[in-house]
Amino acid sequence: MEKATQPRAFYGSFFHTPEYGSFEYLERALIEVGEDGAIERVIAHDDPNQAAALAKVREAGTLYELGEGRFGLPGFVDIHIHSPQWPQAALALDEPLYRWLDERTFPLESKFADVDFAKKVYSDLVDQLLARGSTTAVYLGSAHLEATVALAEICAERGQRTLVGKTVMDDPKANPDYYRDASPEQAVRDTETLIREVEAIGRKSRAGAWPVITPRFIPSCTDEVLRGLGNLAESTGAYVQTHCNEGQWEHDVVLERFGKTDPYALRDFGLLREHSIMAHCPYLTEEEGEMFAELGVAVAHCPTANSYFSSAVAPVQRFRSQGIHVGLGTDISGGYSPSMYENIRQAVLVSRLLETGVNAQLPPEERGGLGEGTRLSLVESFWLATAGGAEALGLPLATFEPGRAFDLQVIDVKRPDSDLTGFGVFDEPIDRLARILYLSTPDNVRQVFSQGVLVCDKDAR
Ligand SMILES: [Zn+2]
Repeated sequence: MEKATQPRAFYGSFFHTPEYGSFEYLERALIEVGEDGAIERVIAHDDPNQAAALAKVREAGTLYELGEGRFGLPGFVDIHIHSPQWPQAALALDEPLYRWLDERTFPLESKFADVDFAKKVYSDLVDQLLARGSTTAVYLGSAHLEATVALAEICAERGQRTLVGKTVMDDPKANPDYYRDASPEQAVRDTETLIREVEAIGRKSRAGAWPVITPRFIPSCTDEVLRGLGNLAESTGAYVQTHCNEGQWEHDVVLERFGKTDPYALRDFGLLREHSIMAHCPYLTEEEGEMFAELGVAVAHCPTANSYFSSAVAPVQRFRSQGIHVGLGTDISGGYSPSMYENIRQAVLVSRLLETGVNAQLPPEERGGLGEGTRLSLVESFWLATAGGAEALGLPLATFEPGRAFDLQVIDVKRPDSDLTGFGVFDEPIDRLARILYLSTPDNVRQVFSQGVLVCDKDAR
């Protein structure tokens, strides 16, 4: 995909969040990128060296200028998305979880036994995510090894950084006969093969590919497979992901089966390790949170899916103050939107409801809100979608700082059907950033670079 004329220096104005809670506006900055796609130098406009550096890259023909009315944002890091659920995004979200799974999700996911079908869906999904600025995605594949390896290959070809796992679901009592692992041994063997094959793809992929050990969630898995996957995590050091403490039903079922809650059961099977990614977690207690922080476990906050299936909102500010890594996930298709913009917005909105509680027929102190300090600001939510995801994965991404991968989305604020200029009224950097995050459509995202390489170009269409 790399072209001879690949730009090595990017000049324009950029927003990013190196620290939680604040943003930086790099106005008319020059970002120099190495051959490997990592940032080498960021030269501010008031740096006396900028003019000479600019002249040099202009002369060499390797300069990319964002241009008037355009701003750079880091590529998003979506840390929880189910790739085989893409064809049912937005469907059946009014159904209870068990019907959504039995009548929609399992029949759909079982179709990914057909690798040609899988390739067709996955090619479209990866393109659509890149078109919305998601340069890194952590995928839960179907229960099929071959289709999941195909997804990793498609990501590598198209330049999306990926962490990907074959979903494990072996319990005959909990899964349909037409769609489950044949046995716990087979599920562990398939996961071992996946680790080898995705690591091989990762070695030739410019942006990187990593395997992820992926039990669907405790209720779909036998004790034997959970133990086997825990041992595999220990012996290979691979990433682990699963759903944890997503809803009341799961919480109760796990408690009854093991006499302990989800997080402790997962820990005791060896599945909670540094950079393990636990989706949802609204039921996580303070004590369980301390354990997460100690082990370096990350939470994938999926605000849209929380609203549909959790009957609860994850208390992100408490997680952060406890020192837990937190990133953001679209959770296609428990969430309807493939856009991290949409999930940035939802994370802010649901945190406001969590702060106050929602039943206005009760006195304020009885509405169930967690009170002051609960809400997320827009900038904090932007951090979750970028630097927070990078921190969760332990990868150098998602800010414009030396040593980090250069992943960029170029936002045009003057599209004919989506003007984000606000008529020049209220035009401070925070106002510009807020309009981009709250109001932009996929059409505003004009170009996307991943690891320094152009991977989506709507201007060329
Ligand atoms: Zn999920």
